[in-house]
This record gives sequence, C-alpha cells and structure tokens, in this order.
Amino acid sequence: MPTSASAGTPSSSAAPGGVPVAVLGSANADLVVTVGRAPGAGETVSGHGFTTTVGGKGLNQAVAAARAGARVRMVATVGDDVHGRLLRDTLAREGVDTDALRVHPGLPTGTAHITVEDDGENRIVVVPGANAATGAHPDDLRALRDRPPRVLLLQLEIPVPAVVAAARAVAPSGTRVVLTPAPVPRGGLPGDLLGQVDLLVPNQHEACALAGTGDLAEAVRWLLRRVPEVVVTLGARGCLHATRDGGHTVVPAVPVTAVDTTGAGDVFAGVLAVALAEGSPVDGALRRATAAAALSVTRSGAAASAPRRDEIDRAVR
Ligand code: ADP
Repeated sequence: MPTSASAGTPSSSAAPGGVPVAVLGSANADLVVTVGRAPGAGETVSGHGFTTTVGGKGLNQAVAAARAGARVRMVATVGDDVHGRLLRDTLAREGVDTDALRVHPGLPTGTAHITVEDDGENRIVVVPGANAATGAHPDDLRALRDRPPRVLLLQLEIPVPAVVAAARAVAPSGTRVVLTPAPVPRGGLPGDLLGQVDLLVPNQHEACALAGTGDLAEAVRWLLRRVPEVVVTLGARGCLHATRDGGHTVVPAVPVTAVDTTGAGDVFAGVLAVALAEGSPVDGALRRATAAAALSVTRSGAAASAPRRDEIDRAVR
C-alpha cells in the first residue's frame, strides 16, 4: 500500500532563520569501566580499562543529524564541570549549534556509569544530573519558539513535562515533531504529549510497551489512534512505517555484520529527521535512515559510529 503522500513534506511555515533540525534532550558523559568480573556488594576489584565517551539519546541524535548534513541546534543542559565542557566541545566539533546548550550552576553534567565484564555483561547507573533541568528554564523554550526548526527531535531522557512544553512551543510554527519514546515511562506516555507528536519512532519493544501488548500489529493500531504516523524500528529486520490513513510499508534492513548496535535507533532518528527536513518523501527518508543505521552498527560507539552524508549518499545509490 502506498504511504501517505504528504508524509515527507517539510513545513514551509517554520521560520526562516530557524535551523532545519533542533534536538531537545539529554547529553551525558559515558564513563565506561572494563573489568573481568564486576564487584559484589562491599567488594573492590581491579578493572583493566576506562574510557570516557559522549552519549545521551539527545546528543547522539544531534550528532547523527549534523553528520548527515543538516544545520542542527541542540537544546540541553550540562553542569559547570569537565564533562559539560567535553560535551560542548564535542557538539561544536561536530558542527552542532550549541547556543542553546545551557550550563546549570548547581547540578553535575549527566553521567552514565557503565561496567562491562569480560563476558560482555554490563551494568549501568545513569545519573541524570543537569538533564533533569532541561526545559525548566525559559531560555530553553525560547530557543525553539523564536527560531523554530523544520523538525524537532525529542526523546524521554529529560523530564516528560519539558518534552510536552517543547512540542507545544513549536506547534504554532508548523514544525514537524518527531518523538523517540525512550525510555518508556512507567506510567506510559501522557495523552497530552502524544497529541503533539507528528511522527513517533519507537523500537519494537517500546511500541509494545506503550500499547501494553506483545503483538506488534496491535501496538501499531493502538499508536495510530494517538499519533498520525509511526515508524517502528525492528533491529536487523529493518523498520515498519504506518500512517493513520492506512499507509503501511516495511523497509528491510541493509544486511551487514553488526559489531555494536548501541545507538542504532538514534542514528536512524537523526538521519530520518534530516531527510524529512530537507523535503524528502518518506520512503526516501526511510531508505537513508536505514542505510545510515546499518553503517553505524558495523562500528563501535553510539554517536561516534554515525556515518557522514557522503557515506549515506553512497550507501543509498
Ligand atoms: P534501537 O537501537 O532503538 O533499539 P533498533 O535496534 O530497532 O533500534 O535499530 C534501529 C535501526 O537500526 C533498525 O531499524 C535498522 O535499520 C538498523 N539496525 C539495527 N540493527 C541492525 C543490524 N543488525 N543490521 C542492520 N541494520 C540494523
């Protein structure tokens, strides 16, 4: 069945002077320890490696979108600390506009403390820190309202009310609001958020969790009663695009040897947003996102594995 004809049309009313893509969301420093065996309670063990990388779904999506060739603005909050400076420098180096990256004077930059055992088992403690303040300052929403993007990318690693407020702030501008509903909040998503979303991009697990069913078709039907358009990412099986008017397309994944699938969904969302902001029809946008996500799983890292525009161009040719 054909997909909806208007699905890829960018908003022409989003103000000139705005950026094609804005991301409001989390930015973390990922502190990764490798160890033979993780310690039990009260135990101390010696690890054999330590790295600091950048992460957070918001930052990952912003970097993926910037590498895909768009002008991107990141609206986020960091602490006045070494990790905050690392995140700002990284975003700036990637060409992301950091004007709306706010420094919170009293909270640490968000961190993810990741312990990876030799057998691959991992344990993660996330400390949201300054991410918990994103959206709480009037400047955060002003950044979106004054220079509305064509596409606003949202996720749920910051307080849900801030996500709702951001979606509302751009509503008068014709901005297309794209939400990755991760992590799925315990109580589900508030109806006032889904009502503001133009395109929902969950993975299969998230789609089923939101709808409270193990059946994907049923989950998609449930979601389409609340949002007009859904793309469910299906890992190595690709993705499913469905619209409320009955459009339904499956885009198979590009077969690759996966090395590290961390952040594949964020690369997918970032590249999809860029293609939609540039006016690609939705099927072309999905092909670019699928190709980019496949490239990203062939190398390690999340943001670091996002491909650049010329690689994506070559992959979809
Ligand atoms: P998330 O990372 O959010 O869990 P998925 O695992 O569904 O999301 O992956 C997002 C997209 O990445 C998929 O729709 C697919 O296009 C691509 N992808 C993921 N895993 C693979 C894989 N093993 N081979 C090729 N493409 C993949």
